Amino acid sequence: MHFTHEHQELQRNLKRFIDSDINPYVDEWEAAEMFPAKQLFKKMGELGFLGIAKPTEFGGLGLDYSYAMAMAETLGHIHCGGVPMAIGVQTDMATPALARFGSDALRAQFLAPAISGDAVACVGVSEPSAGSDVASIKTTARKDGDDYIINGSKMWITNSLQADWMCLLANTSDEPAHRNKSLIIVPMNTKGVSVGKKIRKIGMNSSDTGLIYFDDVRVPQRYRIGEEGKGFTYQMLQFQEERLWAAASSLATMTMCIETTAEYARERKLFGASLLDNQWVHFKLAELKTEVEALRALTYRACDLYIQGQDVTELASMAKLKAGRLARIVPDACLQFWGGMGFTWDNPVSRYYRDGRLGSIGGGADEVMLGIICKYMNTLPGKKG
Ligand SMILES: Cc1cc2nc3c(=O)[nH]c(=O)nc-3n(C[C@H](O)[C@H](O)[C@H](O)COP(=O)(O)OP(=O)(O)OC[C@H]3O[C@@H](n4cnc5c(N)ncnc54)[C@H](O)[C@@H]3O)c2cc1C
Repeated sequence: MHFTHEHQELQRNLKRFIDSDINPYVDEWEAAEMFPAKQLFKKMGELGFLGIAKPTEFGGLGLDYSYAMAMAETLGHIHCGGVPMAIGVQTDMATPALARFGSDALRAQFLAPAISGDAVACVGVSEPSAGSDVASIKTTARKDGDDYIINGSKMWITNSLQADWMCLLANTSDEPAHRNKSLIIVPMNTKGVSVGKKIRKIGMNSSDTGLIYFDDVRVPQRYRIGEEGKGFTYQMLQFQEERLWAAASSLATMTMCIETTAEYARERKLFGASLLDNQWVHFKLAELKTEVEALRALTYRACDLYIQGQDVTELASMAKLKAGRLARIVPDACLQFWGGMGFTWDNPVSRYYRDGRLGSIGGGADEVMLGIICKYMNTLPGKKG
């Protein structure tokens, strides 16, 4: 993937916006365990940041996915993980299936306002009893005349306390688990949708995470994305963008973590020398930087192939796995070199230590990524080696 002048211009504009409209408020939002999604998304929508790779007919910029990757990477300059994650949900997790498979009427009603920043979106896949095992979700959408009646619950839903609509995965028939699901857009102000208590977390604090209940929620069947029964497949495709996004958005943050630590280690004097003068410390940071560059190469390659229309499930899963691993290894190793300062709440590296831990769990745990990679290796029992 080659970043052209246009990619760099996009990154410069977004970085300027982050420096003026996001980073000065991050500490306040982290303390409040909430950020003002509606106000922030409205500003971002006006600047075109919420529809980079979305169709122009619905207000998007219609650029190829490399620009979405350039944006994801730049979001890593935000001084916390929660706000970029919430933006990523809006652009790369709740909207890809709608943009690709939704009817024109559905896209005009729900995608256009998500791109302009007039609506906040969330994606509802996980449930209290099913996260990794997506096929076993329990929420149902039963047909009644021209409507669906939805019952069930969704857990861990990012943006859900502020969302205007949810891209919901529900069981719409009694067919086998991979053919009985549909993606349905559910406006969050529909009667019967209730928001449980905000979930307190060890990291990603500025992002709201909710438990949502559906009690006889009636929505028109025309709110379904694409064909009935294809929801599992659509969601797996939607996950490809989520996983590429997760990998790309971690690159700048990890680089920042290493660079900030190197600067601190250069300034910190002990035993008559700078901490960085210890070859162990310098070598360790060099090694971490090399790991991040290897992740960058993998992510860019997956993105290139994705733009060419290839199935990148395996590479996107590898990139997500590697990003999750590094999001634990990099801040942990860096934090060590800050000594007691690393163990304080407001240290930038300690925040990433907490936020980065989600990388191996959310959007498919490491073990789920490994399972997918095994399938593509064709070495599972019953398959030829
Ligand atoms: C902050 C946060 C935000 C989130 N945002 C959203 C959101 O917006 N929308 C949404 O739908 N979901 C969201 N999630 C849910 C997230 O995707 C799930 O937490 C994740 O998929 C894991 O599911 P689970 O928590 O049910 O864990 P389980 O499915 O119970 O898994 C527990 C552990 O089992 C292990 N495991 C899983 N599969 C295997 C296997 N095959 N072999 C061996 N071990 C295995 C893994 O280590 C895993 O962590 C969010 C979660 C968090 C914490």
